[in-house]
Amino acid sequence: MSHYSAWQVFYRGLFGKKWSPALTYPELQSRYDVIIIGGGGHGLATAYYLAKNHGYRKIAVIEKGAIGLGNVGRNTTIIRSNYMLPENNRFYEKSLQLWESLSQEINYNVMFSQRGVLNLAHSDAQMDAFARRGNAMRLQDIDAKLLNPEQVKAYLPQLAMDDVRFPIYGGLVQTRGGTARHDAVAWGFARAALTMGVDIIQHCEVKDFVMQGDRVVGIETTKGRVLADKIGMAVAGSTSLLANKLKLKLPIESMPLQAFVTEAIKPVLNRVVTFGAGHFYISQSDKGSLVFGGNLDTYNSYAQRGNLPVVDEVITECLALFPQFAKLRLLRSWAGIMDMSMDGTPIISASPYEGLYLNCGWCYGGFKAVPGSGFVFAHTIANGKPHQLNAAMGLERFSTGNIVDEKGAGPYPKAH
Ligand SMILES: Cc1cc2nc3c(=O)[nH]c(=O)nc-3n(C[C@H](O)[C@H](O)[C@H](O)COP(=O)(O)OP(=O)(O)OC[C@H]3O[C@@H](n4cnc5c(N)ncnc54)[C@H](O)[C@@H]3O)c2cc1C
Repeated sequence: MSHYSAWQVFYRGLFGKKWSPALTYPELQSRYDVIIIGGGGHGLATAYYLAKNHGYRKIAVIEKGAIGLGNVGRNTTIIRSNYMLPENNRFYEKSLQLWESLSQEINYNVMFSQRGVLNLAHSDAQMDAFARRGNAMRLQDIDAKLLNPEQVKAYLPQLAMDDVRFPIYGGLVQTRGGTARHDAVAWGFARAALTMGVDIIQHCEVKDFVMQGDRVVGIETTKGRVLADKIGMAVAGSTSLLANKLKLKLPIESMPLQAFVTEAIKPVLNRVVTFGAGHFYISQSDKGSLVFGGNLDTYNSYAQRGNLPVVDEVITECLALFPQFAKLRLLRSWAGIMDMSMDGTPIISASPYEGLYLNCGWCYGGFKAVPGSGFVFAHTIANGKPHQLNAAMGLERFSTGNIVDEKGAGPYPKAH
């Protein structure tokens, strides 16, 4: 496979040399050491780290459609590690650190842009909570800065701050946070995994599991039966559907989350901003579109579309912060299916069935976790036990009561 570099662009351009295809389409084998179900960000990253860090060679990623068309290609791409609980901020910080060198690591430009993530506060109580969260981050050596209103104004002059419906009391900023190009992450990990011999099998749906007693030893797919020593499931919003094949009831619910893009305009917004008096987040893509989203459509569904009340709510919140965007035309909106866990924290864990490992419960936040999740899930599968960074993210926490409830919102998936 061709190595991407400035020199290669020059050389191939000068001598008219063709690039080798970025993806290959291998035949499905009857047996692998490890199978990962789901060719989204998490599945592809896991396959890559299994090959790179743990020496596995016979790995397959089984994807029912084409890679990158699930949530990894449907999200608003916000990357941050500004969590309060140590179990979360350590894990997401590791992921952020992996993002910082990812383009070089996988030789693919994922367009990671550390433009800063600013959370706005609209009350004294919210400022207190932000101060507490910022301190918790700094205790883990994660960058965090509490801004007063004047500093917010200097950081983001585009914000409407005078005589507004939701006065801005200040904000918490993580300057190393930012965005990346969503589908490039899937393609980049896929290409890097392929170069290490991973078979990426597209348009192949997993229909059922092959059992030997309490052990999962293989899968039934639309292309036939495949056996493996270990199987990792990373199917995000489809987790409950697949778990159902094993009569495995997981503490997650699937709900739609919408995203929106406007027509492309010249650069007007150089930060990622979140609204604290509701649920709204916005950034501008490198193509020029404003990309934004808000709350879940809070009903259970597997349909990748949402409803108008959320559109209304999101646009209202957008205009409360940036009235000048009222003139823009909305180009598209769509939804992805969120695998909402009961405490808002993911599950990266062994399962009750030997040979089967679970990666799910990502809620709104699984894109930023892609490299970190792949890193620790590969470790968990390879060693049969969690990495220290996902030790608190086991499935058993819901029966032992050791939940990781970042928001303190209780066991309601739509509250997280
Ligand atoms: C609108 C929206 C905005 C978001 N914004 C952010 C954000 O700003 N920041 C952030 O960190 N996170 C965000 N997220 C969350 C993030 O996108 C997800 O948590 C993450 O992408 C999920 O992991 P994944 O990439 O592996 O999932 P996916 O890309 O969905 O991968 C799962 C794959 O499994 C495949 N699959 C399912 N069933 C089967 C089967 N039976 N057989 C074979 N394959 C199967 C699917 O086709 C799919 O490709 C957002 C999500 C949405 C929808």
